[in-house]
Amino acid sequence: MEEANKTIISVKNAVYKYNRDTEDEVTALRGVSFDIAEGDFVALVGANGSGKSTLARLLNALYVPDEGEVLVGGVSTDTGDSDKLFGIRRTVGVVFQNPDNQMVASVIEDDVAFGPENLGLPPAEIRERVDYALECVGMSEYKKGTPFRLSGGQKQRIAIAGVLALRPKVLVLDESTAMLDPRGKKEVLDVVERVRAEDGMTVVMITHFPDEAARADRVIALDGGKVVMDASARKALSDVETLRAYGLDAPLPARIAYEMRKRGALLPDGIVTAEDLAEALCGKNI
Ligand code: ADP
Ligand code: MG
Repeated sequence: MEEANKTIISVKNAVYKYNRDTEDEVTALRGVSFDIAEGDFVALVGANGSGKSTLARLLNALYVPDEGEVLVGGVSTDTGDSDKLFGIRRTVGVVFQNPDNQMVASVIEDDVAFGPENLGLPPAEIRERVDYALECVGMSEYKKGTPFRLSGGQKQRIAIAGVLALRPKVLVLDESTAMLDPRGKKEVLDVVERVRAEDGMTVVMITHFPDEAARADRVIALDGGKVVMDASARKALSDVETLRAYGLDAPLPARIAYEMRKRGALLPDGIVTAEDLAEALCGKNI
């Protein structure tokens, strides 16, 4: 059990600037620090431009910080050692917003195999990983088909399968449900629940949707490139005023509880879900 809470990602005072030392310089991250332990489920929230995507790219060494450091499994992402870099990219898999930009092949199973092929794995292992990943996202029956005719949710599940085929320890989803309809969103969130339940995967989910963030155990909020909240999901998402100050919505039940308290209702703290609110108003379901 000693391994249970091992730190897998450590961000220490990370600063990141675009167009550094030019007149177009933008400081996207201004000294960000946090640790993520193996098995954590973190929602990363923040208004547009707060630095979420930049941070996602720092987590798998697509970018290295200008100051401070990012450690993945204890190894700095700012390494000249290509084996170490390779290890980091295998450890942290990132799924982006637009599934169309993540498709590389015209047959679904080839698309999913692209990553493992690039790892130079033997064909039998590639086969096994592709089957596992497609099974995980519930798309096995489509493997011989073309990705282009799929729904947005199905395409995003294929993109996730491509990342899962690399067997990452950490799955980072950068607003991966943003372009999907409600059904597509649910499909993707169900996959996240599944890899967490079955593989204990560490998940960092960047999202604009407060109800999605409520699925996580912990919420980290960014504002102007700084961490402004880092707390349990219950504490962070029930704090309507603080969220609002950073341009963020709390889940609807939390907002209802907030408005009721303003009108004198004596409700407990920490109301986030519909169940929490119902329990506060009517007692436990018996
Ligand atoms: P978020 O994902 O939270 O919307 P980003 O990490 O994309 O935020 O952006 C953080 C800041 O960095 C913003 O001010 C954004 O305009 C700027 N930025 C992002 N990408 C680039 C880029 N490629 N070149 C210059 N500035 C960028
Ligand atoms: Mg973004």
